[in-house]
Amino acid sequence: MMRLPKFSYRVPRKIVETVKIMADVGPEGQFVAGGTDLYPNMKRRQQTPRTVISVMRLPELNQISGDGKSGINIGASITLTDICDHPLINQDYPVISQAARTISTPILRNMGTIGGNLLLDTRCNYYDQNYEWRKGINFCLKKDGDICWVAPGSSKCWAVQSSDLVPVMVAIGAKLRFASTLGERVIDAAGLYNDDGIDYLHKRPDELLVDIQLPPTNGWRASYRKLRRRGAFDFPVLGVAAFVKTSTSGTVEHARVVLGGIAPAPIEVLEAGRQLIGQALTEERIQAAAEAAYVKARPLDNTDFVNNWRKQMTREYTIRALTDLKSVC
Ligand SMILES: Cc1cc2nc3c(=O)[nH]c(=O)nc-3n(C[C@H](O)[C@H](O)[C@H](O)COP(=O)(O)OP(=O)(O)OC[C@H]3O[C@@H](n4cnc5c(N)ncnc54)[C@H](O)[C@@H]3O)c2cc1C
Ligand code: SF4
Repeated sequence: MMRLPKFSYRVPRKIVETVKIMADVGPEGQFVAGGTDLYPNMKRRQQTPRTVISVMRLPELNQISGDGKSGINIGASITLTDICDHPLINQDYPVISQAARTISTPILRNMGTIGGNLLLDTRCNYYDQNYEWRKGINFCLKKDGDICWVAPGSSKCWAVQSSDLVPVMVAIGAKLRFASTLGERVIDAAGLYNDDGIDYLHKRPDELLVDIQLPPTNGWRASYRKLRRRGAFDFPVLGVAAFVKTSTSGTVEHARVVLGGIAPAPIEVLEAGRQLIGQALTEERIQAAAEAAYVKARPLDNTDFVNNWRKQMTREYTIRALTDLKSVC
C-alpha cells in the first residue's frame, strides 16, 4: 500500500489568510482542493509539499453566481458533481456539464473540483508510476531524473495536459481569477497553459485560483468530444472542444477548435477556425477544419493507444464535435 508522506495540514477560512500561509511557507507549500490529483501524486512521491493548504472552506471559492446573459462565475472549489447537476450551467453552458460528466467516476467527481481540474499535473506513462517503478528506470526529467524516456534526445518534458475541462475553457474564452499576497489578476484560460510538461502553467505556485468566469452566452455554441479506452472512466487521450458563433443568417462569425490530451498544453488549431469563418457550417467546411486539426496534431507515445491512431482520430473527433454544433446552429 502506498502511504502519504508526513505533512502539516492547514484549513484557512479566508482568502487573505490562505495566501498569507502560502507566502510564509514558500516552496514547501501546496494548495489542495479535492485531492484526487495531489494525494496520489504525493503517495507516488512526485509532489512532496511539507504544508498542504486546503481551499475547500473558502466561501468565495464555493459559490456560483450570475447567469447566461451576464456570464457565470464558478468558484474554484465547486465540485465536478455540482457542475454536472447545476441547473443554470446545464441550461446555459451545457458543454461544461457535458465535459465534466466525462471526468473520472461519480465518486471522484464528488471530491474533485473544477479548480483542481484546470490545474491538474501533466501526465505520462513514465511518470504516473509509483516511486519504485520510476526508480527502476532511473526516473525521468520531470522528477528526479535527467532523461526523457519518450524523446531521449529532448531537453523538454512532453507529459500531457489531460484535463477534460481545459480545452473547453480555452475554446469558449473563459477567464480565471487568481489571488496572492501581491494582489489579484484575471487571465484568459488560453494564457494559463505552457507547452512544457514540467513547467506547465503560467502561474506562480503561490497564486490561488479563486474563480472561473464564463462569458455571456450571446449566441455561441460549443461541444466536447473525448477519446478514451474505457467509456466508464479514463483520462482523455484526445479531447476536441469546438466553439462556433453564427449570425442570424447562419454564417460562422467566430470559431475555435482546441485539442486537449495530446501535448503539454491545449492546442488551438487556428487554421481550423479559418476554414469555418465567413461560411455556413456545412459538411464540406467541417471536413476542411477537421483536416487542419489532423495536420496540427502530433501526439507522442506517452499515453494510451498508438500515437498514429490518435492522430487519425483527431480528424474524426473534430468532425463529431463540429457536427454536434451543426445540429443546433
Ligand atoms: C482514477 C482517476 C481518474 C481520473 N480521470 C480524469 C478524467 O477522466 N479527466 C480529467 O480531467 N481528470 C481526471 N482525473 C483527475 C482529477 O480527479 C480531476 O481532474 C479533478 O477535477 C481534480 O480536482 P481536485 O480538486 O481533486 O484537485 P487536487 O488534487 O486537489 O488539486 C490538483 C492541483 O490543483 C492545485 N489546486 C487545486 N485547487 C487550487 C486552487 N484553488 N488554487 C490553486 N491551486 C489549486 C493543487 O495544488 C494541485 O496541484 C482522474 C483522477 C483519478 C484519480
Ligand atoms: S515526457 Fe519524458 S520527461 Fe516528461 S514525464 Fe514523460 S518520460 Fe518523463
